[in-house]
Amino acid sequence: MELIVQKFGGTSLSDEQGRYHVLRHIIREYEAGLNIVVVVSAMGRSGEPYATDSLLELVRHNGNSLPSRERDLLLSCGELISATVLCSLLHAKGFSSVVLTGGQAGIMTDDRFGSARIIDIKQHKMRRQLEEGKIVIVTGFQGMTTDGEMTTLGRGGSDTTATAVGAALNADIVDIYTDVDGILTADPRWVSDAKPLAAVSYEEICNMAQNGAKVIHPRAVEIAMKAGIPIRVRSTFSEGEGTLVTHTQALRNKGIWFDRTVTGLAHVRGVTQLGVINHDGLADLQLRVFRAMARHEISVDFINVMPTGVHYTVSEDDTPMALQLLQGLGFEPHIRKGCAKVSVIGGGMNGEPGVMAVIVEALTNSSIPILQSADSNTTIWVLISENDLAEALQALHTAFGLHLT
Ligand code: ASP
Ligand code: MG
Repeated sequence: MELIVQKFGGTSLSDEQGRYHVLRHIIREYEAGLNIVVVVSAMGRSGEPYATDSLLELVRHNGNSLPSRERDLLLSCGELISATVLCSLLHAKGFSSVVLTGGQAGIMTDDRFGSARIIDIKQHKMRRQLEEGKIVIVTGFQGMTTDGEMTTLGRGGSDTTATAVGAALNADIVDIYTDVDGILTADPRWVSDAKPLAAVSYEEICNMAQNGAKVIHPRAVEIAMKAGIPIRVRSTFSEGEGTLVTHTQALRNKGIWFDRTVTGLAHVRGVTQLGVINHDGLADLQLRVFRAMARHEISVDFINVMPTGVHYTVSEDDTPMALQLLQGLGFEPHIRKGCAKVSVIGGGMNGEPGVMAVIVEALTNSSIPILQSADSNTTIWVLISENDLAEALQALHTAFGLHLT
């Protein structure tokens, strides 16, 4: 029998209307004869009663005094509430379902509280409940150490629960239900004619997620990719099938891999560009700079190393510390705050000439300076001023014909 994992996000579960749609999707698949594991997030967003951020808020004023082990106990409550509420709704409609916490579902993790990694999934309990014909509801975002401590997987971790459970049970598909109609060619708040994509590859969505698109947690995609389990990112509130995510080859076989070089755009704001010029011809300037950043766990990006100096970026939050470190080393760094990183992503750009030329032309025609650039075989990144972001995204979207998707 086919097995499906359905994951519902916080906005899908936060009110009666959302939960009505959640039930609708579960019951449709159940009546089609599928085995179903439902993975839930905590209800709602920050400010709403049982959201993860609201739980954190309960102890924020106590000077962050809650130890990380107990913090994970607190955070686990959100998913438990949405799972049990959903269970009661299913029972009210006559569908037998059972709630399993991460630990009860057999999701074993290491003991890094707050950012635990899954090390194993013991699937017998989920299997047994499925064999009894029950809809199995698993609380997302949590697991258990081998000695029975509750852990959480890091923010956004219920996506990871869904694909990890899907991989363990060898599911036919993992459906990630959210409040948007799948993956779009760009963020619709910035690009008015952004279009939904019928299909993307695992690599493409990983790049999008790592570069600021908040569609799905990148770790969740990596797990699905390794196991070769297709994902659909789709809306709770509509009938649309959303965006299929799978291997490029599988998309080709299905005839839905279009001849596209660029698939979509993503962006990150709040980036600071730093530069250190090697005036004194120091042999170890690069080493000094990057060792200092590494020691203070400052993540660096857009790294350009030349004999004449280094250029790189850090996040807005890390900027004061990075500056202090560079000045402490006796450097007078060049600094440019308020930058944005725009990613032009496409699994089909590998070896295709002319992609960078289109980017440069689109931005030059809009008089937008490129402050730095970098590339891989599936992505070209450009650093620009945040003030130019809206215009740059729109210009690139049009230049690559993404509005015609
Ligand atoms: N509720 C958790 C969070 O807000 C996990 C998730 O929603 O994926 O981060
Ligand atoms: Mg999420």
